[in-house]
Amino acid sequence: METISKRSLLAAGLAAGVAGLPRGAFAAQPGRKLGYAILGLGYYATRIIMPRFAECEHSRLAALVSGTPEKLKTYGEQYGIPETHRYSYETFDRIIDNPDVDIVYVITPNSLHRPFTERAARAGKHVMCEKPMANTVADCEAMIAACKKAGRKLMIGYRSRFQAHNIEAIKLVRDGALGPVRTVVTDHGFTIGDPKQWRLNRALAGGGSLMDIGIYSLNAARYLTGEEPVAVNAVESTDRSDPRFGEVEDIINFQLLFPSGATANCVSAYSVNCNRYRVSGPKGWVEIDPATSYQGQAMRAQLGGPPAPREPAPQPKNQFSAQLDHLSECILTGREPIVGGDDGLKDLRVIEAIYRAAREGRTVKL
Ligand code: NAD
Repeated sequence: METISKRSLLAAGLAAGVAGLPRGAFAAQPGRKLGYAILGLGYYATRIIMPRFAECEHSRLAALVSGTPEKLKTYGEQYGIPETHRYSYETFDRIIDNPDVDIVYVITPNSLHRPFTERAARAGKHVMCEKPMANTVADCEAMIAACKKAGRKLMIGYRSRFQAHNIEAIKLVRDGALGPVRTVVTDHGFTIGDPKQWRLNRALAGGGSLMDIGIYSLNAARYLTGEEPVAVNAVESTDRSDPRFGEVEDIINFQLLFPSGATANCVSAYSVNCNRYRVSGPKGWVEIDPATSYQGQAMRAQLGGPPAPREPAPQPKNQFSAQLDHLSECILTGREPIVGGDDGLKDLRVIEAIYRAAREGRTVKL
């Protein structure tokens, strides 16, 4: 990760210190860690993200937002968050008056990403939003517009872009080590349990495996090729008598065609466990399995010689802390995140095309 120069921090502090800042926005002080409010205290927030602030250089946990008072108390005490910095969904808008909060990180069920992002932007806060960015292209566009209107940054939680093995794979492709990319083959799935969970409720999830885990296949195909697909095929296989799949799809596999002629074959599933990709060109290939998991990535490559394990260049931070710090650094230095709202929107455009291709049994052009 790039480090922030003293000069750019000073420049950011000075720039943010000019008169006329909107209410809710507070000047970035050189050296100050930016404050995150975590909104939605479920599994990913509490088990995966919140512990990772400990390794952040430019970010700290400053506030909590939850619909459950007991969670606010438990995690507030655990992380030393004062009661003044604990919000319910009803009192959340008062965060506009809290100078300790620079960024709101939305980690709720998918259909709530849009309304909470819009409220955070109205409160003058920058937004980190979990994937999928929202349920529809229209929702994504509204979120981008809300953050733009507020003059605030929007980033999507595509953490794999900050993970060492994925960074290495992207670099090998961009350096031409494989020759021009011809194929990406990628599988993402897990066996989902409890039929009553929000992930299997269409109103809350927006769809099934594709919205949740298949999006990793899509996002990887896009960041490995560095291109946007121009045509999409898809097939769905869902056992509608299975109590888990009354409302959303199980398997939806899709193929993408990119402008260069590169192709991607992608699995998205809620009934098998898989997490891998292989990207290939005429000069070789690189594969990661597991590829986009929280940990345990393993890489192999065939680059001229026989296939062999490959260790990526070490990165200074784990993927979660690097993701959190990336948005803080962008705010402090006035840059745009490498995975902004535009990237989330691009995924949703393809997702809508994948659903249409499966429904209509035809190739959908983009
Ligand atoms: P979860 O069910 O564990 O947590 C969801 C939280 O939202 C809970 O605290 C719940 O109380 C709260 N909530 C607020 N309103 C709700 C409502 N109307 N119905 C149900 N819950 C409500 O889910 P999670 O696994 O933490 O996922 C949350 C978000 O994070 C999703 O968008 C998911 O796609 C994303 N996620 C991302 C990753 C990643 O690796 N980037 C991993 C897991 C989840």
